[in-house]
Amino acid sequence: MPDRTGRLRDLEPGIGWAAELLRDPRHPGFAAVVAAGDPEVAARALNRLLAATTAGLRLRRTGEHWQVVMVTETGPDRAASAASALARLVARDGWRRLKRCAADGCGAGFVDRTAAVGRKYCSGHSRHG
Ligand SMILES: [Zn+2]
Repeated sequence: MPDRTGRLRDLEPGIGWAAELLRDPRHPGFAAVVAAGDPEVAARALNRLLAATTAGLRLRRTGEHWQVVMVTETGPDRAASAASALARLVARDGWRRLKRCAADGCGAGFVDRTAAVGRKYCSGHSRHG
């Protein structure tokens, strides 16, 4: 059953990794997804991330939950898992949870995981993390 509370637990661990990679300058492909503004352009940017990986989808158990993770021969692929989680998020909930920080001069990408989808600032600029 989809998680409709905004916690997006069913998209872990990828969605958590996406939150990190969206603001990581070493992964400009993720920033390009949120910078696009236009859904078609954003989709192309996200598809480029997905096309760039050789990782494959696996199911793995963590405690009492099952997670979807992208893996290579060497283990979990964080970038591929993040891109996959973002794609699943958009397919389910549209682009509204993928945002850019509204703080002056920031613009960092982040995933709005709040139930009301009302977050405006990245974790660096939000008092509530
Ligand atoms: Zn910010």
